[in-house]
Amino acid sequence: MAQLEAVSERRKPASAAQIDVAIVGGGLAGLYALHRLRGLGLTARVYEAGSGVGGTWFWNRYPGARCDIESLEYSYSFSEELQNDWTWPERYATQPAILEYINHVADRFDLRRDIQLNTRIASASYARATHRWTLETREGERITARFCVMATGNLSTPRVPDFKGLETFQGQWYHSGLWPHDGVDFTGQRVGVIGTGSTAIQMIPLIAQQAQHLFVFQRTANFSLPARNAPMDPERERRHKARYAQRVREARETGFGVPGYPIPTQSALAVSEEERRRKYEELWEAGGTIGFLNCYNDFLVDEKANETAAGFVREKIRSIVRDPAVAELLAPKDHPIGSKRLCADTNYYETYNRDNVTLVDVKSAPIEEITPRGLRTAGQEYELDAIAFAIGFDAMTGALREIDIRVEGGEALAEKWLAGPRTYLGLMVAGFPNMFVITGPGSPGVKSQMIHSIEQHVDWIADCLAHLQTKGLAFIEPEQDAEDRWVSHVNEVADATLYPRANSWYVGANIPGKPRVFMPYVGGVAAYRRKCDEIAAQGYKGFLLGR
Ligand code: NAP
Repeated sequence: MAQLEAVSERRKPASAAQIDVAIVGGGLAGLYALHRLRGLGLTARVYEAGSGVGGTWFWNRYPGARCDIESLEYSYSFSEELQNDWTWPERYATQPAILEYINHVADRFDLRRDIQLNTRIASASYARATHRWTLETREGERITARFCVMATGNLSTPRVPDFKGLETFQGQWYHSGLWPHDGVDFTGQRVGVIGTGSTAIQMIPLIAQQAQHLFVFQRTANFSLPARNAPMDPERERRHKARYAQRVREARETGFGVPGYPIPTQSALAVSEEERRRKYEELWEAGGTIGFLNCYNDFLVDEKANETAAGFVREKIRSIVRDPAVAELLAPKDHPIGSKRLCADTNYYETYNRDNVTLVDVKSAPIEEITPRGLRTAGQEYELDAIAFAIGFDAMTGALREIDIRVEGGEALAEKWLAGPRTYLGLMVAGFPNMFVITGPGSPGVKSQMIHSIEQHVDWIADCLAHLQTKGLAFIEPEQDAEDRWVSHVNEVADATLYPRANSWYVGANIPGKPRVFMPYVGGVAAYRRKCDEIAAQGYKGFLLGR
């Protein structure tokens, strides 16, 4: 009986009003944070704006949405049983398959009783006197917590389409990041897709198969490599699972958190053209992007080395796309390959050989306005029944800036970040005690296999909270100096690479008026993990801790 009571006690939801840890966001990061922090005996609760768990995989339901990291890798590693029991049907899982997996995790680890859906956090305010955060939801509910974990995601605030005349459009329009849950049938329609980033590159081949005519409005051409998706090879899956624990360890010694791709040591310029080409051909045939990013040590550092790969991909585009003028428009020439997110596709370039697809260059003739009947560029009006905006997100900082985060008597986070985000390790912000960010700006999150980084961040946070518990400490916050040094380091590392050369969301270039600051840490997950571990081992060097 006593045992039963203990079980039922454990199953009770954490009290909503006063908890140890408020976790904002119920995606992959929020769910693992809940699981891990519960394991410390803390009361924790997730607040999620959506009507279901899954974060990015809950919202991004556009045609063709799937992960471009192989699913055997893009899975949680904290439970080997979970990994062994789960079967991914394809090499790269679709959005519905990933969402099913996330829901399975929520059930399997009994997470739902501490997840409050349909709840958007509007503000979070910290009182130094009591060492507590007070969060307020849009509906006015108040929650107080000793710690706040922002699991708000990096690509969770869709960029609002701000095209002149949009309100006059008589057709339907959609944003990739807020796609209708029942899907959209474009059969027989004239459709416009705006954007040619990773999202558009996935949706274009599928919409082209449905639409009467598809117009793709391209401002900047992107590099894309064939994904070579296929049904899961059972033998490959068996081998993968047999070496699972070892693979997880290996992933830690890589740049991007994907095992099988150790940090390269050879320059692209140190080998013959023939050898390079052989390698690029092999990688092109194998599919996926991680091989390319890891093929030579100067791929993302030296312009000449990079150009060897960029030239190879441009040649491929010209060999696939039959109309030479279209091929030229599709062949990127204004940024190094990999300096923007390298895309993975299924029949992207091939789609431009279809009679019902037109590529419209909106760099030379920009979009002027959306009209009631379609869209007008500097040169022409295009009649459209539907528009799909694949124009991206207010990345990395958008979701945090949407919440009014402040410390009583101090400045708001949005004010502090006016000139760009500043963090220590991407994990905490000076002046904002007891608030942790998962895969925030200044961390390698978005430049890695996200789940790898999520787990590393959450584990670090969990160890930190355990340390505070053991020592009887009430708060932790970064020293200003430590934060300044980390921000300089993040910039130095980025400046030694080709990344800042591109107008990408990594530098906020896609949001008009956003300060141009390179946000991710691109020193790789291995170096980053070592740094985080060293800092913890030195008694949380660079942090102020107190009672
Ligand atoms: P994105 O990479 O920011 O691309 C947005 C696109 O919209 C760009 O082509 C951009 O052109 C265009 N655009 C924006 N404003 C425009 C305007 N006013 N006129 C014309 N074109 C305009 O966004 P995304 O494709 O949604 O991808 C965001 C990130 O999500 C990716 O980088 C990736 O990290 C993630 N993602 C991952 C997957 C995956 O795992 N497979 C799939 C989808 C997305 P410019 O380049 O000229 O600004």
